[in-house]
Amino acid sequence: MMAAQATVSSERLWESLMAMAEIGRTPAGGVRRLALSDEDRRARDLFVHWLQDAGCTVRVDDLGNIYGRRAGAEPGAGPVVCGSHLDTVPTGGRFDGALGVLGALEVVRAMNDASLVTRRPVEVVCWTNEEGARFAPAMLASGVVCGQLTIDAAYGSRDSAGRSFGEELTRIGYRGEAEHRLQAPVAYVELHVEQGPILERAGAQIGIVEGVEGIAWGWIDVVGQAAHAGPTPMEDRLDALVAASRAVLAIRTMAKELPGVRTTVGRCDVSPNTINVVPGAVRLSTDLRARDAAALQAAAQRLQDVCTAIGAQDGVEVRASEFWRSPPTPFAAMVVDAVADTAHSLRYTTRRLWAGAGHDAKYVADRFPAGMIFVPSAGGLSHNEAEWTPKEDCGRGGAVLLGTVLRLTASA
Ligand SMILES: [Zn+2]
Repeated sequence: MMAAQATVSSERLWESLMAMAEIGRTPAGGVRRLALSDEDRRARDLFVHWLQDAGCTVRVDDLGNIYGRRAGAEPGAGPVVCGSHLDTVPTGGRFDGALGVLGALEVVRAMNDASLVTRRPVEVVCWTNEEGARFAPAMLASGVVCGQLTIDAAYGSRDSAGRSFGEELTRIGYRGEAEHRLQAPVAYVELHVEQGPILERAGAQIGIVEGVEGIAWGWIDVVGQAAHAGPTPMEDRLDALVAASRAVLAIRTMAKELPGVRTTVGRCDVSPNTINVVPGAVRLSTDLRARDAAALQAAAQRLQDVCTAIGAQDGVEVRASEFWRSPPTPFAAMVVDAVADTAHSLRYTTRRLWAGAGHDAKYVADRFPAGMIFVPSAGGLSHNEAEWTPKEDCGRGGAVLLGTVLRLTASA
């Protein structure tokens, strides 16, 4: 590496973020840029233009993921890759995803300014359909690239209007070649807003992310007996909603008793859902999260036990069934250490934490050394038009990303 000093410009990064936020801007100042929409196409076009301006070689894979490569000195060396996503939820903010993509672009621009020559190539990536707001599931394209989903499942995923991912990808002109997919990175780093309140509350400028928490999703089906609300005596009722209510409360109590576990019942479907009928059946959704696989398993077991006990008490059937589990994913020590060393050498205040939400870095981490850098979200707010991270925080995140990439290109 040549002895030049590369420095991130928080001003230039901010200008790029605000220019990108104009595409799909909502009246309330947020962003609506659903995956593979016309807005997404315009955002991609601008991003590709910026990559080319920065001298990157641009390629697009068969899922529409965009990669911009800045060449390294060593022939055949694997790249250090950094990036995130440009799609948003329907009423999203300006920073979720865009900060990681444009922060990575700023890393390349800073290297160019300093005429820096790195040993390894540095690659900027924009993943398609991270949010899953238009095409389920979330992290669809990184999931296929990292072997967690099939290409047929991705192409066949349909939005609420019945249009498929594959058709829309072709329509916006971003259906590239399979051989352009992610090429054996030595490391992947994703800069992202925290989307929660921990950093702000701790007064920390940089989050050193140690991994992505595990998630278990399931249903609880309660079957009682529908009956007339008038003539049926109270003691004769098999009320599914009363039993389900006990389950909701017990699941909340569970989280207090199992350290590090968070539990949510977010959905409740009542049948027949009528004012004068004792509810005969209820379906609840369950979301369990933990950073430790054993803790997640303990929570899943406790959920079963709670349901069995409530069923016996109320004389109704209460059945818990899990339909999806994503195990906890610790990030690679090599990447976590590079983030921590960089943040400390820049004298930023830091806090170590785990990501409670899904990110493309999770799927990448299943196959390659990966890590993340968080910066604070004002009020812990995200997936919200009021999402806000000040310019200085974005700049600090960009600086840590640059330093981390430089360490990894030199040492990995
Ligand atoms: Zn995101």
